[in-house]
Amino acid sequence: MEFRKMRRAGQLLEGKECIAILERNTAGVLSLLGDGGYPYGVPLSYVWQDGAVYFHCAKEGHKLDAIQNSPKASFCVIDQDQVVPEKYTTFFRSVIAFGCVQILEDAQETQKALYALGKRYAPGETEERLAEEIEKSISRTTVLKLTIEHMTGKEGIELAKMRKSAQ
Ligand SMILES: Cc1cc2nc3c(=O)[nH]c(=O)nc-3n(C[C@H](O)[C@H](O)[C@H](O)COP(=O)(O)OP(=O)(O)OC[C@H]3O[C@@H](n4cnc5c(N)ncnc54)[C@H](O)[C@@H]3O)c2cc1C
Repeated sequence: MEFRKMRRAGQLLEGKECIAILERNTAGVLSLLGDGGYPYGVPLSYVWQDGAVYFHCAKEGHKLDAIQNSPKASFCVIDQDQVVPEKYTTFFRSVIAFGCVQILEDAQETQKALYALGKRYAPGETEERLAEEIEKSISRTTVLKLTIEHMTGKEGIELAKMRKSAQ
């Protein structure tokens, strides 16, 4: 299928800016086809690595059932939401990535993703401590990988204007 284009092209962010947003944030909302066909948007921590988004979670639950029923997903990260009352708007910036989520089976990739998550969320930890933590939790942990097929970034019109005038 062809993903649709953003209507307001002037507010579209470049690919490298989308990646920078994924790199500098720590949580987003993963949207899945949940129970009874209701969309299930679940907030999750993540790490961006090697062009994919990785998550970790328990071994059961609504989101895993949803992924097993349909791997298609979107993941939204809000980079900025600055309310500007005098302009009746917010200076927002966000990214939406579409793709398929898989439950990782490969031990090496699982280990690598958990290590990247550990580094992202506990940057002060030593390699040994991280390895210990992973070893302790790996048997009760599932690692999910979102392979991105399409990604767009958008910023508020005022931010887009400021960016253009700064160029
Ligand atoms: C900023 C942030 C970061 C998080 N990071 C992680 C992470 O890295 N890994 C992880 O596993 N979890 C994380 N969580 C918790 C996550 O949102 C889910 O609660 C959790 O993953 C369980 O999901 P589930 O589908 O298995 O839950 P289930 O218990 O199977 O879900 C059953 C029902 O509980 C409700 N529910 C579940 N989660 C939430 C929620 N967060 N808020 C409101 N209602 C809810 C929904 O109605 C859902 O249908 C994070 C939450 C936040 C807010």
